[in-house]
Amino acid sequence: MSFADLGLSEELLRSIETSGYTEPTPIQAQAIPQVLMMRDIIAVAQTGTGKTASFVLPMIDILAGSRARARMPRSLILEPTRELAAQVAENFEKYGANHKLSMALLIGGVQMGDQVKALEKGVDVLIATPGRLMDLFERGKILLTGCNLLVIDEADRMLDMGFIPDIETICTKLPAQRQTLLFSATMPPPIKKLADRFLSNPRTIEVARPATANINIVQHKVRVTSRGKREALRHLLLTDNVTTAIVFCNRKTTVRELNKSLLGLGFKSGEIHGDMDQSSRIAELQGFKDGKINILVASDVAARGLDVKGVSHVFNYDAPWHPDDYIHRIGRTGRAGATGRAFTLVTDDDAEAVDGIEKLTGLKIPLFDLSASEGGAVASDTAQGAETRRGERGRGRSRGGAKPERTESRQVEAAPVAPAVVDVAVVEAAAEPVKQPAPARKRRDEPAREREARPPRTEKREEPTNKTRSEPTAPTGAAAADSGEWNGPVPGFLGVSALA
Ligand code: AMP
Repeated sequence: MSFADLGLSEELLRSIETSGYTEPTPIQAQAIPQVLMMRDIIAVAQTGTGKTASFVLPMIDILAGSRARARMPRSLILEPTRELAAQVAENFEKYGANHKLSMALLIGGVQMGDQVKALEKGVDVLIATPGRLMDLFERGKILLTGCNLLVIDEADRMLDMGFIPDIETICTKLPAQRQTLLFSATMPPPIKKLADRFLSNPRTIEVARPATANINIVQHKVRVTSRGKREALRHLLLTDNVTTAIVFCNRKTTVRELNKSLLGLGFKSGEIHGDMDQSSRIAELQGFKDGKINILVASDVAARGLDVKGVSHVFNYDAPWHPDDYIHRIGRTGRAGATGRAFTLVTDDDAEAVDGIEKLTGLKIPLFDLSASEGGAVASDTAQGAETRRGERGRGRSRGGAKPERTESRQVEAAPVAPAVVDVAVVEAAAEPVKQPAPARKRRDEPAREREARPPRTEKREEPTNKTRSEPTAPTGAAAADSGEWNGPVPGFLGVSALA
């Protein structure tokens, strides 16, 4: 099937060609004709399937016919995070290059005045996070009565972030006779209920998850004890032909500590996490891009908005608490036809998390035997070797005592440090302030921070920020962060400014 078979206009086909797409993805092939027929749809699809274009493309053709009226947006796209909202706006800019559609982006961290000005002129497409939209609506700055097309994107993530009541309120402000498109990676009962209430005779479309389809990622889990994690990682970094790697941790403190330890071992590593101000993050990413460092230790939130592609390895130093995060994480490797490798270190405590991942991907992740891999002496630090180690300690030997420091540094010197051939776009990175509790509305518009701090069901919450740690001093860090402002760029076409 080609894009021309889907009923899109000539202008759109031209911009699709410019984007380099030769054929529609399954979600696009199924959704685009339905949307053009003005049907409501429920699309069970996640990031990576081409779902954004599956609503942006037909929306452009639907909206092309008429003109915007002041303060009354003609269509509304709800996104759970600022980063996703900005990405959707960029999609409109790309695919709408041959159309004259106006847009506004309503997200926390962008000056309200600028957003209001954009709205007053009238917009065809309004892309918003629920919190900021509700703020403006409550101030009487916006009318949703002319909004005949609604997209609720990443509905299950909206649910995770507590946005469903806002979405319900927003739905009641729109005309009852409208078209509604709901996208969600999963369909938990509250989302089904939302769909039943606000969609009319929807067509359901379901597509395979990209992670299961990506045969270019070789996945492994490695059984370790929590004390054996560092050694297992070190071993893999040295023996698995690592050129560039992202190492994911669940906690910011682990990111910091692990990076310190890797640097101490002589690895060329850096870190990126939610406590860093924007300029430090950009500097760290630039170093990764330039090959100054080839290992980036990261938290989920810090890495989520960043388009870091083409790394040879992804290591889950901690098994992710949310199965979706596993897919996001390993998707950083195995791009553009290259084979990537993804290792997940698994302790006994991670059984539930791994179970969730395997259910979601439909794949039993094969076990990797460290002791059988090159230089397998590390076996004493794996779960299998735990008993031996305990015995050794009992005899007064320190952990890892079988590996003298000298051997370690010799191996480290031989560690591969090839410059990264990575495509690092820092544009979507959002500030993740941690110091001051923001007002309720603002906090809801900064769900990224919440997610990073969220503990697994059975564990304690992340410890509070270490007060002795040096805090960011740059205005883009402390000042902007405390006020909940967004430091990321805003697409140029919006003609609004983000606070510096
Ligand atoms: P999404 O699922 O919307 O986040 O899209 C994932 C990636 O797929 C984005 O980088 C898109 O630019 C890309 N993409 C979308 N549609 C196509 C297509 N038909 N062919 C190739 N790439 C696509």
